[in-house]
Amino acid sequence: MPADFDPTAPPWGSPAAWCEANQTVDHLIRLHRQELDRAVALALEVQMKLESIFSLIDELCMLTCPRCPDPCCLTAKVWINFQDLLFLHLSAQKIPPAQMMSDLKETCRYLGAKGCTLPRIVRPWICTWYCCPSQTANLNKMPPAIRENFTHTIQAIKNGRKEMEAEFIRVISG
Ligand code: SF4
Ligand code: SF4
Repeated sequence: MPADFDPTAPPWGSPAAWCEANQTVDHLIRLHRQELDRAVALALEVQMKLESIFSLIDELCMLTCPRCPDPCCLTAKVWINFQDLLFLHLSAQKIPPAQMMSDLKETCRYLGAKGCTLPRIVRPWICTWYCCPSQTANLNKMPPAIRENFTHTIQAIKNGRKEMEAEFIRVISG
């Protein structure tokens, strides 16, 4: 473990560490690209499932976020983790220019005057699946088929991300 390793700080918080992490993942993918077909396919499946729930998430946000008295992004301690980083690279997304924060005392750098400035697809997974109590209450008023599909898709994305990570590690360790 490096001497300056801080388990309470987000990973790759400095510009240099962010750059190095992205270059390393990119290099590994180029090096093993032919064996990573399955990992890429899993990432694209995750992308498709994510995109299938964005309109519902947008709807839930529109109902409560614009008038929220205590916006969650102001205090959220979230960042791009290893699965997020892999997903971004394997599904060829535009990589955000920096980690969400370099220090837990900071506010997410992507929070703008009108909410998140990042496209949903590149936000940390936790920012997508988190449903605050007001959103959960509105979701619970929706037809059962919509709720069930949402819950099912969230679980499928969780499983797909795990599988994608396991496959990537299997290939690069081989
Ligand atoms: S998700 Fe919930 S807590 Fe966060 S800004 Fe929207 S309404 Fe507020
Ligand atoms: S990435 Fe966007 S949604 Fe996530 S905490 Fe930051 S501002 Fe909020």
